[in-house]
Amino acid sequence: MEAKFQELKTRLLEVNDISSAAGLLHWDQSTYMPPGGAAARGRQMATLSRLSHEKFTDPAIGKLLDALEPYEKSLPYDSDAASLIRVTRRKYERAIKIPAAFTAEVANHSAESFQVWTEARPANDFARVRPYLEKTLDYSRQAANFFPGYDHIADPLIEASEYGMKATEVSRIFAELRAELVPIVAAITSQEPADDSCLHQYFPEEKQLEFGLEVAKQFGYDMNRGRQDKTHHPFMTKFSLGDVRITTRTKENFLGDALFSTLHETGHALYEQGIRMDFEGTPLARGTSSGVHESQSRLWENLVGRSRGFWYHYYPKLQSVFPEQLGAVDRDTFNRAINKVECSLIRTNADEVTYNLHVMLRFDLELALLEGKLEIRDLRNAWRERFEADFGIVPPDDKDGVLQDVHWYYSLIGGGFQGYTLGNILASQFYVSAFKAHPEIPAEIKREGKFSTLHNWLKENLYQHGSKYTAPEIVERATGSPLSIKPYIAYLKLKYGYFYDLDDDGTQQWEDMVKAWPGQSAS
Ligand code: ZN
Repeated sequence: MEAKFQELKTRLLEVNDISSAAGLLHWDQSTYMPPGGAAARGRQMATLSRLSHEKFTDPAIGKLLDALEPYEKSLPYDSDAASLIRVTRRKYERAIKIPAAFTAEVANHSAESFQVWTEARPANDFARVRPYLEKTLDYSRQAANFFPGYDHIADPLIEASEYGMKATEVSRIFAELRAELVPIVAAITSQEPADDSCLHQYFPEEKQLEFGLEVAKQFGYDMNRGRQDKTHHPFMTKFSLGDVRITTRTKENFLGDALFSTLHETGHALYEQGIRMDFEGTPLARGTSSGVHESQSRLWENLVGRSRGFWYHYYPKLQSVFPEQLGAVDRDTFNRAINKVECSLIRTNADEVTYNLHVMLRFDLELALLEGKLEIRDLRNAWRERFEADFGIVPPDDKDGVLQDVHWYYSLIGGGFQGYTLGNILASQFYVSAFKAHPEIPAEIKREGKFSTLHNWLKENLYQHGSKYTAPEIVERATGSPLSIKPYIAYLKLKYGYFYDLDDDGTQQWEDMVKAWPGQSAS
């Protein structure tokens, strides 16, 4: 049995190496590759993705998994070996349903579509991407139909990144959240908007990058196993547990962009760097779902990086980096500026309160497209109508409307956006649980800029496990509760009740919620 288990691990390592090489090609395409490399790069990534798919779906792997079943059953559910076999089987059974040729075709199409989008977006030219998007929708439906028997056509697509989650459940959570959010957004946006002019000054790129990376290191990002480069659409990527990279972009006339996207990607990177080294090269060595992954980027970006406590410690440092720009701006003004709530056009720049409405808009349009209730040719108008209904403004163009996100132009329709909002919800849930176990965390951040207690709790309870547990399992284990919107709503009311006049300033709700939270008690 030991020999078969070793053989499985060896085969999985080869698959991992090929996909890591494909990941490196993608990283290069998004950072340093000249535009002329696009066509060949698309083909190269398609070749690698076909090879890794073929190797992973080799019937020999299926035979090994069958042979290892008694061994798996003889072990406790949470043993490493049983978990590796279980998670591999789940991914294998999914992968064998998708033909290798299809995967390669989609990879090729995605690379082309991405390249066209990078030109069509600045040109505000939806017509140019339309044929690509039609093909993408077609591929998305085909992908779902490799898994007959679903309740909703989006289920198999959602399950690819969010195992255990279904479209109806996402819709239910979103409806519950929407009912809480809409009145908060309405109350805040009816008040005098925060003055964020202090962020819109000239901030030299180099200093911005330096400051952001310094905070990333303080959070715990290990530079011996990481690096930062510039890109158009920031992301985190991993080639091994010893090489977890972040990318960022800067705007010299706006301080918020590079800083918060760096902290965001750092959160993703901390999760990956925190995975147990002995999981290296196996399917366990990655974050368990995109929602849980996003919870970590949100936790470090928003709950920590946009908190008053964080800036109590860091604002004097930022002022000393930018004395001319911020020397005369007091800390409270800065805190209000970085937490400004407004109905704006761009999802990635949206504040914590309105952000989820951007996600719900996309998620609902995706369901309508997949269900066949909406055609790509009507997508542009559907976007504008829904945007006006939710935000009270009509996007002046498509560049900042339907063309703004890379997702539909780089991957399938229906697999991606819900993770962002699930992540926002879970970020508060993990934070409250860490806080419950270590009530000293906020004071440590405020007084000393010390993040290790929080980081260690996350490593211990979440990061180290990688994909060993599914998202619902790890959420329950780490926080003592299934996914709940309560911590998130309480957090929003507490935080924004300070900045804005709300019916309920959130203090009591936060305290009651923490008291009742089923997490581990203080030790
Ligand atoms: Zn993210």
